Amino acid sequence: MTRPMTTARTSDLLAPAADVAAADVHARDLHAPDLHAPDVHAGRRAPWTLMYHSVGDRRAGDPYQVTVTPQRLAGQLRWLRRRGLTGVSMRELLAARAHGRAARLVGLTFDDGYADFLTEAVPLLRAHGHTATVFVLPGRLGGTNAWDPEGPRRPLLTADGIRAAHAAGMEIGSHGLLHRDLTTLDDAALDAELTGSRGLLADITGTVPAGFCHPYGAVDPRTALAARRAGYAYACAVDPGPVACGHALPRTYVGQADNSPRLHAKRLRHRLRRTGLAALPTLSQGGDA
Ligand SMILES: [Zn+2]
Repeated sequence: MTRPMTTARTSDLLAPAADVAAADVHARDLHAPDLHAPDVHAGRRAPWTLMYHSVGDRRAGDPYQVTVTPQRLAGQLRWLRRRGLTGVSMRELLAARAHGRAARLVGLTFDDGYADFLTEAVPLLRAHGHTATVFVLPGRLGGTNAWDPEGPRRPLLTADGIRAAHAAGMEIGSHGLLHRDLTTLDDAALDAELTGSRGLLADITGTVPAGFCHPYGAVDPRTALAARRAGYAYACAVDPGPVACGHALPRTYVGQADNSPRLHAKRLRHRLRRTGLAALPTLSQGGDA
C-alpha cells in the first residue's frame, strides 16, 4: 500500500512557533484553489498528519492492518493531549497553518468512511476535544470495502451517516467514488472519481468538500494536478516521495501497535524529515511537471 519515503528536499520552511488554538480559524480561510495563482502550499513544510482507517473489533482479522480498537484510539488521543497537541481536521489544520497557528495541531484523518467512524471514532474524538477528517466514498454509500480482496468486509457510511458525522463537527472529504487507483485511469474516469464524488458530497452535506484523499496513496503528477483542477484545496497521500505537494500531502500511518513510545518515535521522525512541499504547475503552464 505504501512506498518508501525518498530523501527530503531542502526547500523547507520551519513550522511557525505560535501556540494558538485553531478555534478562531474559520473555514473561509481555506478557499478552493485559484488555478492560475501560485500553489499556496508550495515551499511549506508538510504538517504532521495521522492516517487511520477503521476503529473497532479486530477479532475478525485485520490483514491490511487498518483497524485500531476503540481502546487503542482512546490511548492515542490521550497521548496527543498529554503533549499539548490537538487533533484537527485537515481543513482546520491547513487554515491554521496559513495564519502561522498550527504549531500545536495535528491532522487526524480516517480513510474509506467506515460506519465505525461515526459509532466508535466520533464519540472518542469529541470526548477528547479533537476533530478529524473522514474521507468517504459516495459511490459506495452503505456498501462495504469490496476493493480489499481478503476482507473482512466492513460496512461503509450511508448518506445519513455522512450527514451525522458532518453535523458532529467532522470534516467530510472525498476518497473518490469507488476506491480506484487514480493513476491507472483515463481522463474521463479520473474526472468522474474527482468531480463526480465532489458533487455528490456537496449534495449530501450541503458543503462542497475542500479535501480529497488518493485511494491506496497512489499519486503521480497527473493525478495530483487533476485533484487541484477539480477544485479541491488540498489532497492527502501517504508517502508521495518526490510528488509531495499540497495535493499529495504525506501522512503518518497509525495502527494498533502504536503505543506511546512508538508514537513518540513517529513524531520525532516527522520533525526530522522537514520535507518542503513542491509546487504544482498552474494551468497556464500546461500539463504535468
Ligand atoms: Zn482507502
